[in-house]
Amino acid sequence: QAEKFAAVKDLPAISRDGQRVAILMNAGLADDAQALDLTGADGIGLFRTEFQFLVSATLPRRERQQALYRTVLEAADTRPVVFRTVDIGGDKAVPYLQEGEGEENPAMGWRALRLALGRAGLMKVQARALLEGAAGRTLNIMFPMVSEPWEFREAKALVEGQRALLARQGHDLPAHVRYGAMIEVPALIEMLDVLLPLTDFVSVGTNDLTQFLFAADRANPRLADRYDWMSPAILRVLRRIVREADAAGVPVTVCGEMGGRPLEALALLALGVESLSITPAGVGPIKAMVRSADLGSLKAQMTGWLDAPGVDVRTVLAAAAAAQGV
Ligand code: PEP
Ligand code: MG
Repeated sequence: QAEKFAAVKDLPAISRDGQRVAILMNAGLADDAQALDLTGADGIGLFRTEFQFLVSATLPRRERQQALYRTVLEAADTRPVVFRTVDIGGDKAVPYLQEGEGEENPAMGWRALRLALGRAGLMKVQARALLEGAAGRTLNIMFPMVSEPWEFREAKALVEGQRALLARQGHDLPAHVRYGAMIEVPALIEMLDVLLPLTDFVSVGTNDLTQFLFAADRANPRLADRYDWMSPAILRVLRRIVREADAAGVPVTVCGEMGGRPLEALALLALGVESLSITPAGVGPIKAMVRSADLGSLKAQMTGWLDAPGVDVRTVLAAAAAAQGV
């Protein structure tokens, strides 16, 4: 197996029928960027900036944030990096930032972009660190837990305000700034017609989206069989996102853990997803899987399976994959 993955490391993820798939990786610390060369990933599709806050006893100062972002961009060289602004709260507790009483439902509480918009000072510091850290390059910046389009608009305006300020002060700035939203709150899917024209890209966080769609805690093992990435409900929702984003001309990546598991990744590709951001250990196996698959025929079959009631997609997809020798 290891030899098979090593053999595909420097080859592109192109399916047997000629479809190119971007295989990006998820990261969160400076050292993770080295996995780009080790795995042959096409870039970093999700850099979880809150990790620096989680491993620190006090608020990381702007200089430290900026140094991290620059280090990661330098390691990535020409490969793209998507920085997600802090996703603090929920399962990622940062005691020095979360004041007040404990929440009854932290996953649905004062977290991620909600916390960042509520503490604009924190967000402005991070925006400046990102803008300065990416001077001369492309900065891809993504907001977590967007629930309504106005939150995206407000977050983007906040970053743009810092960009204008830095420009007035004569700082070097990124050559381009691209803005993306994570799609992980079901309400946002009803508002894609409003959201998509505001964005340069979107990324589906299937870990949280599945949790919120099924009202099933992602971390509770007793609910594991109710939290199923292969169930038609989540697959139909993902199909809808892909269709709407394609129609709007907005690139979509799926950055949840789902994309790092071969059968689940194959389901995503069969739904029309063309970009996955996954755990580094998954890059080799998923790339090898893509190179052995005929995606065109799986896409046609997937549409039929999802439209027919009662099809067990896991079983039929596994059989179709086996028939292709995947
Ligand atoms: C997700 O929710 O799918 C995701 C990628 O983000 P995180 O796991 O950091 O919440
Ligand atoms: Mg999430």
